[in-house]
Amino acid sequence: MAIDLNFTDRFLHRHLGPSDEEIRQMLDALGLPSLDALVQEAVPEPVRTRRPLDLPPARTEHELLDDLRRIAAKNQVWRSFIGLGYHDTVTPPVIRRHVLENPSWYTQYTPYQAEISQGRLEALLNFQTMVIDLTGFEIANASLLDEGTAAAEAMMMFHRSARGRERNVFFVSEACHPQTIAVVQTRAEPLGIEVVVGDHRAFTFTERVFGALVQYPATDGAIYDYEDFCAAAHAAGAYVVVAADPMSLVLLKPPAAFGADAAVGSTQRFGVPLGYGGPHAAYFATHEAFKRQVPGRIIGVSVDADGNPALRMALQTREQHIRRERATSNICTAQVLLAVMAGMYAVYHGPDGLRRIATRLHNLTRVLARGLEHLGHTIRHDHFFDTLRVDLAPGLTAGRLRERAAARRINLRYYDDGSVGIALNETTRAEDLDDLFAVFAGDRDFDFTAAELAGRMESGYDGPLARTTPYLTHPVFNRYHSETEMMRYLHHLAGRDLSLTTSMIPLGSCTMKLNAVAELAPVSWEAFSRIHPFVPPEQAEGYRLIVEQLATWLGEITGFPGVSLQPNSGASGEYAGLLVIRAYHASRGEGHRNVCLIPSSAHGTNPASAVMAGMEVVVVQCDDHGNIDLDDLRAKAERHADRLAALMITYPSTHGVFETGMRDICRIIHEHGGQVYMDGANMNAQVGLCRPAEFGADVCHLNLHKTFAIPHGGGGPGVGPICCAEHLKPFLPGHPLAETGGERAIGPVAAAPYGSASILVISWAYIALLGAEGLTRASQVAILNANYMAHRLRGAYDILYTGRNGRVAHEFILDLRHLRQRTPLTEVDVAKRLMDYGFHAPTMSWPVVGTMMVEPTESESKEELDRFCDAMIAIREEIRAVETGAADPEQNVLKNAPHTAALVAADTWTLPYGREQAAFPAPWTRTHKFWPSVRRVNDAYGDRNLVCACPPMEAYATVG
Ligand SMILES: *Cc1c(COP(=O)(O)O)cnc(C)c1O
Repeated sequence: MAIDLNFTDRFLHRHLGPSDEEIRQMLDALGLPSLDALVQEAVPEPVRTRRPLDLPPARTEHELLDDLRRIAAKNQVWRSFIGLGYHDTVTPPVIRRHVLENPSWYTQYTPYQAEISQGRLEALLNFQTMVIDLTGFEIANASLLDEGTAAAEAMMMFHRSARGRERNVFFVSEACHPQTIAVVQTRAEPLGIEVVVGDHRAFTFTERVFGALVQYPATDGAIYDYEDFCAAAHAAGAYVVVAADPMSLVLLKPPAAFGADAAVGSTQRFGVPLGYGGPHAAYFATHEAFKRQVPGRIIGVSVDADGNPALRMALQTREQHIRRERATSNICTAQVLLAVMAGMYAVYHGPDGLRRIATRLHNLTRVLARGLEHLGHTIRHDHFFDTLRVDLAPGLTAGRLRERAAARRINLRYYDDGSVGIALNETTRAEDLDDLFAVFAGDRDFDFTAAELAGRMESGYDGPLARTTPYLTHPVFNRYHSETEMMRYLHHLAGRDLSLTTSMIPLGSCTMKLNAVAELAPVSWEAFSRIHPFVPPEQAEGYRLIVEQLATWLGEITGFPGVSLQPNSGASGEYAGLLVIRAYHASRGEGHRNVCLIPSSAHGTNPASAVMAGMEVVVVQCDDHGNIDLDDLRAKAERHADRLAALMITYPSTHGVFETGMRDICRIIHEHGGQVYMDGANMNAQVGLCRPAEFGADVCHLNLHKTFAIPHGGGGPGVGPICCAEHLKPFLPGHPLAETGGERAIGPVAAAPYGSASILVISWAYIALLGAEGLTRASQVAILNANYMAHRLRGAYDILYTGRNGRVAHEFILDLRHLRQRTPLTEVDVAKRLMDYGFHAPTMSWPVVGTMMVEPTESESKEELDRFCDAMIAIREEIRAVETGAADPEQNVLKNAPHTAALVAADTWTLPYGREQAAFPAPWTRTHKFWPSVRRVNDAYGDRNLVCACPPMEAYATVG
């Protein structure tokens, strides 16, 4: 054999769980000769692609990191004083390493299983408490996607709550960030809301106005007192939302105190890197009266079976079964990991630390203002926090200034009227001010330094609207200020949560696969993390390459020529895709097409997105096999032919089956003038095997946080790009501050032009590491793992739906509905019992109530699959004991699950089964036991007593 000089450590073998030998064993178990034979049985011939993927060859991790370093070097890290809602920040290293770069945090799932999620639930409760304290409201949610969409959510909440149908005007202050205004406008249009943009000081409320949005401090740094404005709004029956920078609120009067009804904003500058626009956590706070209208998730305090305090997602019934077409918002994936970081930033610095940071920022800004005045410039606003708008002295043009700034690698904000904006940030030093003085001096000599000016000035904010109320008084913000304490607190919380570091998380439709370190590490590199989203494009050459190549590759994978990476969640992709379809119809004079057909089995976000896009949802029935009922589809397409806009369909179906009729389904829709929207959350079964474009879809979204290796983060971040056919490409979303999108672009659906740009690097790396063959093999092994598990579990449980040949796709549904008929047990008891075995439950009661949907992904080894199957089979026997009467119907291992260490180690034990059976039901629990930290959480109690801020410590002693 000739010498091969290539690296040998191929990533594919690190990404795949099963070895070649294990793959052969699993194929044997299924009675199949090869993976190809499995694909032929599982994936119907008509949807299979005939053209293999055309992608660059696979790279090893070592090669990948070298390549990425070269790409990163094309980005230039300048000092960005642009502001516009994005500020460089100091991520405390302890938070970077122990949260952002820690798989115990970033590989967590959304905390539906509260008993094994207490750590992140507490972290999110901290975040909510921080937001509540800073804004002055009673409730806050656990994050939204970004400031722009949070403002749009507030608008929608006010619109729903408006008294009187005729109210459809929303006022937006022109002093808001331009991207926020644009996102709100995009959101308003399909809902028939009229947005009026103007000067809040000149606006008169009429009975047609239902709400208003103002910015505090304003986009150019001005601090306005909105008290009279809020009073005028209320007098006219309208509501006010304030977009507020949380750092400024450390020194300023909170929005609730001057009469606002809600506050939104970005918590990015609380230690979350710029990342060229995201991901960052937006916050949403409001009054108690709106609690059932709040978009996104709220973490609440409840009690467990022993009456001990326990946290959970509040109002979860609403949340889990998203109210479909009656939904108030389509938020599913949010920004949990980033909210955890921002909350921990507040925990680490505490109220005093935050006050020092905010005061220093303000002091720097005052020194800057003083110096600029010495240089003859005019500071436009008397009152500011950390952002100045400067009217230049005669003799210095903005053009000349820009050259001087560029020479020192400084980015500023240049207004159309020739004025200049400077927003300082936590990383700013005195030397940066001296540099700014040199820039603004023009050709003049000057003889002062920032330090000298500072020496003659008093510290602190002395303007109007100074904060007088305390914040972050809770002990959690006052006890973890040394790094040792902080490290232990983070580790303590992570230890309460089951993540991929413990065991597989077989969540159907969520694709919890490997998030490889080589894919993630570059996200923290300065060349990616410290780029402001609105730098001139020349400074983001590396990002341009990533964005373009990733778009090309996703286009190749889906078969579509048009790609937008802007949406920052799957649901936001759905919404963007439907708006694109809407714009396409309108462009052909068919703007009246507004009916969206959606199968009854669809994910709740589908109908919610359709309603947000101004469409009317018509439900299509499914047959007994979980497939779309073709007759019903045809009948409804015909009935609504005049107004048919689109079909939204998930493929493979939400039941985990490759429907054979997909081509017919698409044809029927097209014949009736509609477009086919494919929900691509299940793309993990298709990459390299089929292309949505080839079987007739017109547009689809992909969840990069499922199929393309971005970690779930406990419920975000995510990226939901849309890929579309040529005729829809002109309408892809644009952005007011960047050149992106089609030539007839719809408005932006996210605040940043490329959404959560920094994590695009992860998916880029994933595709680069695997290459065409590796990606295809990953899909095959995902299908193999699912079929192998279905095969093993078949004796113990019924598999609800299978395709032709009895095969499933990459996931399958276990039917547990018989439990309720024969025993007092439910699928929830099985889910909780799995915790005693050290596992996270599969997706519960979706898409069919009373079932579990299992998706193993390609990254789990045969050994892990077997372990999970062993647990499920053992639980089946525990169920049988209840069925036969061998076990008590109420006092049994299932009903009492999960069992905590405190319970089984207590001196008294009165349950009619052994402690060993309770806590160590399988051999592996002896070598590594994951202990749930609380017993079964009481959902009803939590919803009746909604508490979404950290309760005072005394409360912990008295609850129950
Ligand atoms: C996950 C998922 C979505 C929503 O994606 P998010 O990123 O959570 O908004 C939509 N449809 C299906 C089928 C999904 O599995």
